[in-house]
Amino acid sequence: MLRSRTSNKTPNGAETPREVELSEDEWRGRLTQEQYRVLRKAGTERAFTGEYVECHVEGMYRCAACGVELFSSDAKFDSGSGWPSFTQPSADSALELHSDRSMGMARTEVLCRACGSHLGHVFDDGPMPTGQRYCINSCSLRIDPEQR
Ligand code: FE
Repeated sequence: MLRSRTSNKTPNGAETPREVELSEDEWRGRLTQEQYRVLRKAGTERAFTGEYVECHVEGMYRCAACGVELFSSDAKFDSGSGWPSFTQPSADSALELHSDRSMGMARTEVLCRACGSHLGHVFDDGPMPTGQRYCINSCSLRIDPEQR
């Protein structure tokens, strides 16, 4: 479901509570400066600088802020974009999609549903069969190599 970034309300007006809700100070304490800028302020890490761009380790990529499962390495592909890219989430319910009209572009922002942190954007130019390219900041992720 697509929602406006400025509101966390469902179409019927109900607030969607986060499973993980921390104060700004708590987020700052838990995250690095770069992670805070990206995850909590919808920033973007510089292309080709993130630790997972070239990562081929098998495992489950979890939210770096709250730890929930987001993407399996099975869905990772080399997009050449400079950011880790995935064809699909481990479960649709893990993500929340918001329409994003910042920077003079119409894009779809990807957030972690559990904690509301910014992960990246999703585009329609991915490989088949999904045709989706989830373009995710490395610093928004933490791989769990034990799991897939
Ligand atoms: Fe999260």
